[in-house]
Order: sequence, then structure tokens, then C-alpha cells
Amino acid sequence: MSSDFEWANRIARPVIAEFKAYSARGASTGALHLDANESPWSPPPAGPRESGYNRYPAQQPSALMARLSGLYGVPSQNILLGRGADEALDVLLRTFCEARQDKVLICPPSFGYFNVAAQVQGAGIVTVPLDDNFDIDQAGVKQALKDNAVKVVMLCSPNNPTGNSISRKFVAELCSMNPNTLILVDEAYVEFSPMGSLSDLMPANRNLVLTRTLSKAYGLAGVRAGAALANPEIINLMLKVLPPYPVPRPVEQAVITALAASAMAVHDARMEIWKVERTRLLGALPACDLIETIYPSNANFILLKAADEDALLKKLARFNIKIRDFRNKIAGHFRISVGMPEENDLLLAALGLIDQESKKDRTAEEFRTTKETDISVRVNLDDPSGVNIETGLGFFDHMLEQIAKHSGMGLTLKCAGDLHIDSHHSVEDTALALGAALKTALGNKAGIGRYGFVMPMDETQAKVAIDLSGRPSFTFKGDFPSQAVGEFAAEMCPHFFQSLSQSLGASIQIDVAGDNTHHMIEACFKGVGRALRPAISRGPTTDIPSTKGVI
Ligand SMILES: *Cc1c(COP(=O)(O)O)cnc(C)c1O
Repeated sequence: MSSDFEWANRIARPVIAEFKAYSARGASTGALHLDANESPWSPPPAGPRESGYNRYPAQQPSALMARLSGLYGVPSQNILLGRGADEALDVLLRTFCEARQDKVLICPPSFGYFNVAAQVQGAGIVTVPLDDNFDIDQAGVKQALKDNAVKVVMLCSPNNPTGNSISRKFVAELCSMNPNTLILVDEAYVEFSPMGSLSDLMPANRNLVLTRTLSKAYGLAGVRAGAALANPEIINLMLKVLPPYPVPRPVEQAVITALAASAMAVHDARMEIWKVERTRLLGALPACDLIETIYPSNANFILLKAADEDALLKKLARFNIKIRDFRNKIAGHFRISVGMPEENDLLLAALGLIDQESKKDRTAEEFRTTKETDISVRVNLDDPSGVNIETGLGFFDHMLEQIAKHSGMGLTLKCAGDLHIDSHHSVEDTALALGAALKTALGNKAGIGRYGFVMPMDETQAKVAIDLSGRPSFTFKGDFPSQAVGEFAAEMCPHFFQSLSQSLGASIQIDVAGDNTHHMIEACFKGVGRALRPAISRGPTTDIPSTKGVI
């Protein structure tokens, strides 16, 4: 076998293989940089040097590449990062397809930008349409590949707009049977699919190229960041074509922040919600008599065939809901993105499938970043099913679980804090973030119980009273017999509830007695959870529980 480098050069456009890469400046080295005609001053309003905006970024910023390497499970040298997967697709064709000579193979209906990128580059387009079930016509693709001018097979899995995935066996077969053809699989929606990425096929198949995006599963469509994953020799050739500095510093910052350790629990929780909602819509939509067919989906959208196109559009228009019209490509078909639960409720209400006034879940997210801690919290006061807590302090995790379990709320909480110093900041900031999230989730407090009170627990006595009055106040009575439980200082227990009362806007009174510090602290957390349960729970009315009509 020829070396990968010779091979990649051989299948690339000759002009790309031949020229030497333009050398954009590398990462800043700490030297005095008088080499790039930049301004020595950062733009206002930040002070000198603060934003770094006056300096060109690295061509492929290393911290971000390292993060993506972790996220995608492939080495940085196998990744090209650009302005979305769209740019990666464009650069791939500009690197490998000679205009008026080379061709791409596309299986429509598929991602529309495949055609655009091919046409801009002047590549020919061979089409092998999907079959009646929207599956790949495998024999047809193999037959079409007898044309040696096909340089790139452009597949999408899960496919946009049909939502189904391509079998990994077929992709592996295509790669090995056509060693000098690039097999591209656009995995823009792979995070939503039970099938998983094909990245593990890359080491054995140097002609396999994958594209990934941060626009869909990670909520970064407005930031423009996406990647190609491939053998390093393909990546190196593509880097010759990628325009200079495609990853602006604000983009790098936004992505690093969105993919921080503490944010991953939030992404996980949202992905769960997304999948549950997809199942709910797939179950509910067939009952609509304006819809003829609903197709199963491994992505965050659902393709459907309308029974009455005009009536369907009219109903949705009345609720100002837009769905994607695919009728110019597939007669009678539309694509609906899966939204957040309350948005999907609106869709189902518009189609007359649920009562629009049905109760909405009270959920909220809170992100808190300080010098000492990085925290993300998601609460759902009406669905206790998701509890996932990681603060790095085992005992504290266990205590927070007590609050979630006994109050009956779902709680996803991740805290990355300065535990090498001590636990103080982590505990305090967690309380502040949790209180703020609860306050947001409670909204205008319509229908809640407002008050909660709870009494003895085991041999330890914990009396807890709570009033979600909107006004913070805190009293604590109790003497702990020892100073700490493991790494958790006993004094942090009252401090936690004081901080919680402050950011939640609640009156919390705790009176605890006992002779075991562990049990006493646990009783406080359980007690607060128990007292929160009636306080946050909603009754049949939507009254505000105050004589003033507001709290
Ligand atoms: C949305 C989408 C993309 C675009 O990704 P960006 O990273 O936003 O450019 C790529 N491929 C498919 C199939 C898509 O649906």
C-alpha cells in the first residue's frame, strides 16, 4: 500500500497537491509580535490585551481542537474545524473535485447543500435516489461507482430530511470496495441516533470522511462551528484550502464555554428531553387526520406526508408555527423540528391533538461562573425522573440528592469548583445557583402551596419550615457534635441554606438536634426537601397564594 500521504496527493486535485500551503501565523508564542501588522491595542471597551481581539487567532486553535478531540473521540490531527460542517463540506469538494472532470454521487432526497457545494465547485452530480422506504439503493450506488470520475460519495446519516440512518456495514463495504473514492458521511444528527458515529471505522478506512456540527445537538447554530473528521493526510490537504483564520476568537470562546465540563450535564439532560419529546410526537401525530404518514426518526426532526396540505398549513399558520416545506422535492412532504416540551405542546394544540391549556412543566436552568466555580443547574418541579448531581464532593452530592428526592423535583447539577482550596465556594455557589433556578422555575407561583413544614426524622430531630414568600430570611438552631463529615465542614450546612434562602427568596427556618453530625446534616437536607414538596406543588387552581395577589 502506498503511504497515506502519496495516496491522498494522488486523489486530490493536482493544483492542490502541488502548491505549498500559505503560512498563516501560528499561535502566539509570548514573543513581541511585530510580524502580522496587527494593532497593538485591543478594541474598546476592554483594556489593552484583554480580549485578544487585536491578534489573529491560530488557524486551528489548540485548546478548542483538544476539546473537540475529546468530544469526538479522535486525535486533533484527524479534525478540521471550520465555519460549520457546511464549510467542511465545501472545502472537501474544493480539495478533491476537479471542475468539469470529477463527480460526486448523491442519494436524494438528502441534504440540499450537497448539491450547492458540488455546483459551486463545478463537479458533476450523479444521483441514485433513495428507494420507496427512503433507504439507500445499495445496488444502484455500487453500480454507479463503476464510473471512475466519481470522487466523493455524499451520504448523510441520519439523513436530512428522511430521519433514517445508513447501515454501518454498507458504509464499511463501500469504503473497502472503492479505495480511491472518498466516502463522506455527514453526521450532523448523529448525537440523536442510537446508531452512534462511524468514527471507529476511520483507522481501517483512509477514504472515510465524516462531518460533525455543533449547530444541532449543542445549540450553537448561531456561532458557526463544525468539523470534518478524516485521516490526517486528507485533513492536511483540506487545511491548504481552508481560508485563513476560520475560527474567530469569540467563536472559540463561545464553543469552549458551551462545552465546558459543567455544561455537559445540561446537554445530556436536554438530549434526554429531546428523545422523549420525539417519541411523544411520533406517538401523537398519527392521530391527526390531516396527516397521512409519519416516518420514524433517528434525528431531531420528523418527516411527514400530509393528507390535506392546505388545511395542515392553515392550522399551523393560525398558531404562527412554521414547518419546513419539502413539496418541491418530495410531493406532499413536510419536516417538523422537535422543539422544547412547551413548544411541542403548542404544535399538538394547533393540530387539535391536546388541550392547549394543559399544565406546562415548570423548568429552569441556571449557569453561574465565577473565578472559583463553574456551575450549571437544571430543575424540573413537575418531573422527578432526572436526577444527576456531580459536585466533586461525595457527601454533598448525596445531600443534594436528598433535596431532589424528598421535594419530588428533577435536578441536574454539575459544579466544577476550587476543591483543591476547600469546599466553601462550591457549596455556597451551588446553593446560590440552585436557589436562582428554583425561583425561575416557580415563575409567578400560580397555584403553589407556598408553605412547607416538617418534623422529626429518626433519632434526630429536624424541624424545618419554609415560606416561598419572595423575601429571604434564615434562622438556624443546632449544635453539631463534630466539625465535619468527611471533607464537608458542618458549618457549611447552615451556610448552604442561608445562601439558598437568599437566591430563592424564601424564608427558611431550621431547628436540628441530635448526637451524630452526619445524621443531623442529612436530616436538614431531607427536611428541606420534604418541606419544599408541599410548598412548590401546584393544586387545581391557579391562584397566587397571598392576600396581596403577588409574591
Ligand atoms: C444542519 C446541517 C448541516 C449544517 O451544519 P453547520 O455546522 O451548521 O454548517 C450539515 N449537514 C446537515 C445534514 C445538516 O442538516
